[in-house]
Amino acid sequence: MIQDSWLEAHSYLRPLAELSAQVDRAAAEIEVLNARIPDWEAYRQEFLAGVPLLTSAGVSVDLEPGEHMAAALLERLGTSSVEPLPGMSRYVSWTAMALYLRPIVTAFEAWRDDDKWLRRFCPTCGSLPAMAQLVGADPGRKRLLSCGCCRTRWQFKRTGCPFCESDSQRLASVAIEGEPNLRIDHCESCHGYLKTYLGQGQETLLLSDWSSLHLDLIAHDRGLKRLALSLYEFQPQ
Ligand SMILES: [Zn+2]
Ligand SMILES: [Zn+2]
Repeated sequence: MIQDSWLEAHSYLRPLAELSAQVDRAAAEIEVLNARIPDWEAYRQEFLAGVPLLTSAGVSVDLEPGEHMAAALLERLGTSSVEPLPGMSRYVSWTAMALYLRPIVTAFEAWRDDDKWLRRFCPTCGSLPAMAQLVGADPGRKRLLSCGCCRTRWQFKRTGCPFCESDSQRLASVAIEGEPNLRIDHCESCHGYLKTYLGQGQETLLLSDWSSLHLDLIAHDRGLKRLALSLYEFQPQ
């Protein structure tokens, strides 16, 4: 198992891995309520204008069932497992909401033309990306941004900062020794950084955010700022 060898090499991540596994196990036990797929054509104009799906005025996605699922998940976990980390209850709530939204996120991905979005925020929920991923090989290598909330992935320009939209000349990256699959891209204008997974096939582990906490520490030591939304609030003091 890839996760086992990852934890072998990064034993300090074990408590987070255990928390995350605990949430996943509990999430597998709650009832998944039905999400109604919106009428995409009624949403098209807003999509083209850059309005995220969940804030659309034209089509409304009923979030109430997802909120019920979040409450059920929090209750199942109990307070003892939610308290250790600030931001944990938000993480748990989004885990349930993402589970509820999954059919919509999948259908949305099939419907939308990613070339018509290319924005720095999530087309589904509007959040800023938690991480990035580079897929494919040149020519035609693509950069995807990954939402830590609803788990949507969407295309963004290869270079360019998703936090301040500065030009590509001011982007730099830091390679991580011994970890060819991960790097830190940062912006010299706003000092924001984005952890980037270089590859495909290990999304569940390598885009999970907790699995690359050490990159947040490296970035912090370099004086970079985490502008990406973190559901864990790992921000070192
Ligand atoms: Zn999202
Ligand atoms: Zn920037």
